[in-house]
Formats: sequence, C-alpha cells, structure tokens
Amino acid sequence: MPAPRFDQLHRHTGPYFVALGGAGMFGANLYLYGSAGQWIGIDCGLALESTASGDNRVSVPSLTALEKHDIKLSALLITHGHEDHIGAIPHLWRQLGCPLYTSPFTAQLIRSKLPQHLDWPALHEIRPLQPIGLDAFQAEWIPVTHSIPESHGILLQVAGRRLYHSGDWKLDAQPLVGEVTAEGRLRAIGREGVDVLIGDSTNAPGGGASRSEAAVQDGLSDAIRPRAGRVVVTCFASNLARLHSLALIAFDTGRYAGLLGRSLRSMHGVGRAHGYLQARPGFIDPWELGFLPPQQQLWICTGSQGEPMAALGRLAAGSHPQLTLEAGDTVLFSSRLIPGNELPLERIKSQLKGQGVHIIDDDMAPIHASGHPPQDDLRELYGWLRPRYLLPVHGEPYHQQAHLDFARRLGIGGLVPANGELIDLSGQPCRVAELPWALREVERNG
Ligand SMILES: [Zn+2]
Ligand SMILES: [Zn+2]
Repeated sequence: MPAPRFDQLHRHTGPYFVALGGAGMFGANLYLYGSAGQWIGIDCGLALESTASGDNRVSVPSLTALEKHDIKLSALLITHGHEDHIGAIPHLWRQLGCPLYTSPFTAQLIRSKLPQHLDWPALHEIRPLQPIGLDAFQAEWIPVTHSIPESHGILLQVAGRRLYHSGDWKLDAQPLVGEVTAEGRLRAIGREGVDVLIGDSTNAPGGGASRSEAAVQDGLSDAIRPRAGRVVVTCFASNLARLHSLALIAFDTGRYAGLLGRSLRSMHGVGRAHGYLQARPGFIDPWELGFLPPQQQLWICTGSQGEPMAALGRLAAGSHPQLTLEAGDTVLFSSRLIPGNELPLERIKSQLKGQGVHIIDDDMAPIHASGHPPQDDLRELYGWLRPRYLLPVHGEPYHQQAHLDFARRLGIGGLVPANGELIDLSGQPCRVAELPWALREVERNG
C-alpha cells in the first residue's frame, strides 16, 4: 500500500477514515476522519497488556502519522469514559493540542486525570441530540446503552456523507443506571440514510441478545441471598448500574455495603456528583462495615482482572489493611475476564480457595452482562440505521471479520480496516494508502 499523497490528506473532500488504534485489537481506540484537509478524531484510549509477571503494560497510539504528514486535528470527540477510549488523553493532549468535546460525566472523568495546574486544551461539554458544527463536520452525540453512563454513538455529516460511529453499545430495555439506546432518533437517522457505519465488533462472533442489567441484578440477588459469611463482589469500577444493584441487594438481604479500592471510590464520587447512584441506602465506610457480623457484610472491590495490588489481590494475599477473609466467605466475580489476564486471576482464585473462600463466577451464575452487542443486537440496530457499508472496529481481526460476515448476510457491504490504513469513504469504502502506525509504551500515571 502506498504512502498517502498530499492531496488525499489536505485537499480532497473524501471523506477519509484512518484508525490509529482499535482496529485489529482491543484498546487504544483512536479514529480519525478527514475532509479537504480538515481532520477530527474520535476517542483516545489506552491499551493494556498483562505480562507473565502479572504486571500491566500500558500503551498509547503513536502520533507519528500526524507529525509526518502535518495533520492537525481541529477537535477530539469522545464517545464515553472507559479507559480504552479516554485513557491516552493525559499522554497525548499536548501533541494533539485541539479542543475536546464530550458529555458532562465523561468530561469530569477526563478532568480527574489531568493535573490541575496545567493549561489544558478546552474541554467542551456537549448535549446529546444537539448537533454541533466543527469545520467541515457536523457531529451529533446519540445516547446508547453501555456499561458506563453517558455512552454515545456519533453521527458525522461531512462532504455530503453520513457516517455513524457506533462507540461501544448494547441494547437493554432496563439498564438501571444510564441511558436506553435512543431508538427513535436512530430510526430517524436510518430514514435519512447512513452511508458508512463504523462499529463495535467485541461480541459480533456471538449469537443471541444482550443480557439485561436487570437480569444481572436478579442473578446477583439469587447468588448472594443464601450465603452465610461475608460476601465480596468484584466488578469494573465504572459499572455504576452494578453498584446501584449491589446497594439494593445488600439492603434486601440484611447486609450493609461498602466499597474497597480507590478507583471504585472515585468513580462513585463522580457518579453521585452527576446525579447517578442517588438511591438510599448507599455505601458505608469500610471501617464501620468491618465491625459488623460477617453475615451483614457486603463488600464491593476492585481487582476483577487479577491485578495483584488492587483490593481483591490484597484480600487473596491476606494483606489488606481493612479486611481479612475467613473460611465460609464468598467472592463473586461480576465481571468478564479480559483476555491476557488469565494467569494472575487464576493465582488469586487459588489463593482464595486455599483460605476456604467460595468462588462464584459468571460461568456458574448469571451475575455479569457484557456492554457490547451480540448478533441479535447488531441485527436490530442495523435494521434501524440501514447502513450501506460497515467498517468493523473495536476488536481483533477475528471479531472484525465475524462482524463483517454477519453484516453481509444483512445486505451490508464493507471491509475490515487495519490500523494505519487510509480508507476513502466517498463511495464504496476502499483502501487508498497506508500511514505509519504503532503503539508506544507509557508509564501508567504519566
Ligand atoms: Zn466501553
Ligand atoms: Zn471500548
């Protein structure tokens, strides 16, 4: 594939698409759209890899392509607040040097990562369903259900084309916390026409429909109710719906709930500040919770991916300052294992079993729901939007190909993009050139 010509990047209206992360991999999502020399980005995330020693290696997209070809972004648009979508901002904001646009809750999560004293690029808070103009582009954030509040797809209109960038999404009529996917608006967008859909491939190989967060609440309740000792539940800190359910289940089963782990406490704080998790009863202080009888304790903790220094890792090692587990206690994994973390998680599970702690995971009971769409969800959304073409992203090549194969059965064309490929979207998507692409390892809190 040739290097791009000047006129492709700086004169032709295109529009053009290039992924600098997230295509052919999980993590480091960074997608660029260009027309007549004007470029915008969508998302700017981290990639995590766990090493054999159990440490996490953290990487961000390299911006060599922008430097080499003198591409300046006029805006960075953010779909939602997961690390694989916002985690690279603290590392790349200086180089990007453009304003950021996102919803208020996600903006707060981004602000909480940035040193206070620095002069940040402008961070604009958008309103869903209210299009904004950005040079040649018009962008509209569309609410979708996912596993964190304020998740969005983005409709881009540029050079006479209508592009729908799905972000991470699922369908769930009862998400408990956060938005229901905006079916009415999506159907209207479909009636007006969608040329290319750039979409989430995470669960595309899987059949069936998403499990509802309401079903997870029932599953957790059934699993927790008969337990005699302490109950510890580990889940992703950003899953505010799960925290909401666990607070209710604690009350319902005669327990008090508390949070263990820094990321859980800070996520809970941002959530409450934005009007989520207002229901009473809430969570009590860990020091108080630890003094109650074991059968009245429900702990929610970080560390579902086997991170040795997170709360669950320290509980398993018997080194947590606020809680010691005993035989007869139960740990529930209300989470999905991210591939690559198998070894550290197995180590933690065997340490817990060695202490006589019961383990329940989502293979044994319906205590977790994915935030990404399997095939029934894809069929439904694509029926509303009726895109002509698909570029499957947010997945490894296997997930992308399964996504495209499934879309073809619905009469949708397209191609599987790789990171760095410049794709012309002016007609049927086609690869026209290749830009340099790489991941760059960074310090975790750099
Ligand atoms: Zn996400
Ligand atoms: Zn994601």
